[in-house]
Amino acid sequence: MTSPAAGDAAALPDYAPIPRSALGPALNEQGYYVGRVERNLYYVTDGVYQSAFLTTPDGVVLFDAPPSIGHNLRRAVAEVASAEGVTNTVTHLVYSHHHYDHAGASSIFGGDVTRIGHEENRRLLLRDNDPDRPVPDVTFADRHTLEVGGERIELAWHGPNHSPDNIYIHFPDHDTLMFIDVVNAGWVPIFNVNLSDDVPGYMAAPATVLSYPWKHFICGHLGRLATRDDVAVHQQYIADIEASAREALASVNPVPAYMRYGENVWAGVKAHLGAVTERAAAPIIAKYTGVLAAADIEELTYTTTFQIMQSLRLDSGPSGPIHP
Ligand SMILES: [Zn+2]
Repeated sequence: MTSPAAGDAAALPDYAPIPRSALGPALNEQGYYVGRVERNLYYVTDGVYQSAFLTTPDGVVLFDAPPSIGHNLRRAVAEVASAEGVTNTVTHLVYSHHHYDHAGASSIFGGDVTRIGHEENRRLLLRDNDPDRPVPDVTFADRHTLEVGGERIELAWHGPNHSPDNIYIHFPDHDTLMFIDVVNAGWVPIFNVNLSDDVPGYMAAPATVLSYPWKHFICGHLGRLATRDDVAVHQQYIADIEASAREALASVNPVPAYMRYGENVWAGVKAHLGAVTERAAAPIIAKYTGVLAAADIEELTYTTTFQIMQSLRLDSGPSGPIHP
């Protein structure tokens, strides 16, 4: 395969401009933006990652600690706490899931913070054995109500999706839901259903997101908060891929590819499933270019289509006819 080295910028392709509506507010000199979501709930972004925090009279509750925002989390908390005249001490840290890119700055908040996550979160962090991501002190199986300084946060696990431990963080008194790494507000998912483990769980998650009452949605990526419309557009994108993959699986004839390659059956598999993926992805790329940012980066929709098509074969079945 010949593809230009990432270091050779002049050789890299051009893409469509990103619509302003897919971008967040301008960052400050330190490289972050902190904005009020509602009342004493705030979100912080570096334009790529998002975190959130709640200020209370008894301490600050932090939700995720992406390393790319890193020490700017402390600056954002200090800036807001000072303006509000409340303590800037972070007393609780909730992990949305165990991935390093959302939790890797956890250790900068020290050992006195109460960390909270799903029981799978604890298992996975024990496995990863990473000093940057201390294991949670408080875990739960299905639901946990966190009460700090008169505020209430409802944590829930509805099964595996992006990761085995990814939870829904609901702020019923702030009209907000936080749920990370499934919907990217205004953008297509990156490679392979946003690098997710469980494809049926990933595909079903937006319906669970929409079953909650909320006005503001913290999705974990890019610069702005998401709306219910953003979730609906993402849900339609995934539904369109599923329908297109079903059509392509039913209509691409695999025989010529396997005949062509004979005993090299893996070459036959590659040619067959490659043809299915190309046929399924092409109309999606055409439909969503100009609707979702980066939809014209064909590899992103192509790899997501491949994952969904494989899940239709392997999770839903059938992968092929039963031999007579
Ligand atoms: Zn993740």
